[in-house]
Amino acid sequence: MSLTIGAHVDQTDPLAEAAARGTTLVQFFLGDPQGYKGPEIRYAGGADGLRADAEAAGVDLYVHAPYVINVATTNNRIRIPSRKLLQQHVDAAASVGAKGLIVHGGHVSKGDDPDVGFDNWRKAVEATDLKVPLLLENTAGGDNAMARYLDRIARVWDAIGSASQAEQVGFCLDTCHAHAGGNPLETVVDDVLAITGRIDLVHCNDSRDAFDSGADRHANFGTGQIDADLLAGVVRSAGAPVVCETPGGPEDHKADFAWLRERL
Ligand SMILES: [Zn+2]
Repeated sequence: MSLTIGAHVDQTDPLAEAAARGTTLVQFFLGDPQGYKGPEIRYAGGADGLRADAEAAGVDLYVHAPYVINVATTNNRIRIPSRKLLQQHVDAAASVGAKGLIVHGGHVSKGDDPDVGFDNWRKAVEATDLKVPLLLENTAGGDNAMARYLDRIARVWDAIGSASQAEQVGFCLDTCHAHAGGNPLETVVDDVLAITGRIDLVHCNDSRDAFDSGADRHANFGTGQIDADLLAGVVRSAGAPVVCETPGGPEDHKADFAWLRERL
């Protein structure tokens, strides 16, 4: 099976990182993944240079949005800057020619009505100019998460579906998050497809932690707690491009790519 398999890499020179791994697909952050400061292009040639060089090299770029973005929350002091940061990252991702911007589902606070969170997602999609596809990613932990358990993902998807630009919202399935979040990998692809109708990208990661533990610690393939056949089965049935967000550098990633290819 020929799927493109790439990795999450350092943002300074994503094309050199792609070459070092022998891949044509990389994901990276633009700026600080933990801060509200806004995107930053660290590539020497700037955004235009990165776009042109990636095109010339035939490398697909994906941008991962900062972890601090939480468009679902009822807390204005987080939701408002989150929306601003989301638009800034969509714009920056478009400027480098990225195929998509990956954003976590976010969460509401303890005691909040999750319905407000679903509707906040709709409003965020309405309010953002989606110049590149926004790929909503499932997350591993928390009881108040919007995209941990399938029933919540269905509610978010329902809410987003009524927004204009809904067709610009896709789904990124993370295998570590699904496993640690308590969604059986035997059925997760079918379960997600029944809700979203699409899986645009797979984050393929093994998990250091047990099923439904709620922990988010990625592991290299074969070193974690996910069954090898199940992991490969998700990638095979999703049929989407793959990003390995596993630990280590080029050699570790090449070993992960080979491990996965052998099983596809
Ligand atoms: Zn991920």
